[in-house]
Amino acid sequence: MRGSYKTWIGLEIHLHLKTDSKMFCSCPARYGDEANRNVCPVCMGYPGALPRLNERAMELGYLMARALNCRLSAKTFFARKNYFYPDMPKNYQISQFEDPVGTEGFILADLGEVGERSIRIHDVHLEEDAGKMIHAGDVSLLDFNRAGYPLLEVVTEPDLYSGEETEAFLRDFQRLVRRLGVSDGNMEEGSMKCDANISINPEGKGLGTKVELKNMNSPRFVRLALNYETARQAAMLKDGGTIIQETRLWNENRDVTETMRRKETSDDYRYFPEPDIPPFVPDEAFFSRIEKGLVELPLALKKRLVAEYGLTPDLADFIRDDEAVARLFEETVSLGSSPRDVAAWLSSDVRKVLNREGRGLAGSPLTAARFHELLSLIAEGSISGKIAKGVLDRVFQDGEDPAAIVKAEGWAQITDTGQIAEFVDRVLEANPQVAEAVRTGDMRQRGWLMGQIMRLSEGKASPEMAQRILDKKLLDE
Ligand SMILES: [Zn+2]
Repeated sequence: MRGSYKTWIGLEIHLHLKTDSKMFCSCPARYGDEANRNVCPVCMGYPGALPRLNERAMELGYLMARALNCRLSAKTFFARKNYFYPDMPKNYQISQFEDPVGTEGFILADLGEVGERSIRIHDVHLEEDAGKMIHAGDVSLLDFNRAGYPLLEVVTEPDLYSGEETEAFLRDFQRLVRRLGVSDGNMEEGSMKCDANISINPEGKGLGTKVELKNMNSPRFVRLALNYETARQAAMLKDGGTIIQETRLWNENRDVTETMRRKETSDDYRYFPEPDIPPFVPDEAFFSRIEKGLVELPLALKKRLVAEYGLTPDLADFIRDDEAVARLFEETVSLGSSPRDVAAWLSSDVRKVLNREGRGLAGSPLTAARFHELLSLIAEGSISGKIAKGVLDRVFQDGEDPAAIVKAEGWAQITDTGQIAEFVDRVLEANPQVAEAVRTGDMRQRGWLMGQIMRLSEGKASPEMAQRILDKKLLDE
């Protein structure tokens, strides 16, 4: 069924911008406060209250548009989008219609298994969020803390062709907005939302009728909803039916999409220029701040981690996914540690400690200097990899330097031949049958003997030296 139809998917992604205050007033833009605490006459839509532009939101909007290779507006306008809904106190939303911050862009996206693809961006525009309605039994409650929150909407062209591709695109997009510091990009918490437009048609016939999907609260739900909708529409077309232009909601309890409302065009909103906000004309200083904010993007970072440091794509993915991890990686390598060792420790032991403590790397006691010192102690043979794990734990617990911990605990590796030979002799004397078995060819028991030697030395004997001495004694005597 799928082979004979082609699917086109375009997205409308809404981002809560990372600003201290709302879009048009100085109320805090903050989650989790008591309901209706962060409100004022402007965001409550009182008559006569005058909105004022949040310059930081303008910067973040232009930065995002710049990162998406858009044509940036030299003069950008706000408009009123009229509609009535209880969570919208003004009965209109201040948005952008003509000359939004950016148009006609593209972004090279990492679509996972599909590889890279350039996705065209139709436009990037700023607007304000509505309040929140909470339905509780017979009554509906309203919380306006979110009303007026700065929102950035990114509209893509229909350049995605399956639910899987779209999920991968959204995950890549999340990396991008986090890297740029534009938004938390968290779909589960609502700081990023995504509506999808999907149309399907028989191969070769061009775009079909557009259906809009809403209410998908994670990249995974977006994939499920799109795949459900692809199958539903294909089955309908196959039976000779017609697709109706409509908005459908994803029902995550039933795993289906359901009709919400039929056909709606921009005419319905009766856009007109917002009379209370003058056009925004960025100056040169503004644009140079935007250029400064344009950090290395996640895909470029991944490619560099592979090319420059010889990391596997999987390890590179892991490193770039968290900015604090990426920073620690590069700083530690710049001090002289081996990139592969640093990456391996970050993705295994350091990650384990962070998971166990339920914390992130940002602001942790593991600085680049301490990390480099720890890896140097291993490279020099001063401590074994096993002891190093214990030292790492202690760095997190006490915030002390690895060398100081090793010294205080007497954990330095034993590299004295005579001392190690003594451990080996004691183990062999205590286990004559095992020693005899190894001598006659049972090599599995050799590992057991090594284990006994390491235990006797409390993990401090140099494993390489102990192995060499054990082999010599077993094979030569
Ligand atoms: Zn306000």
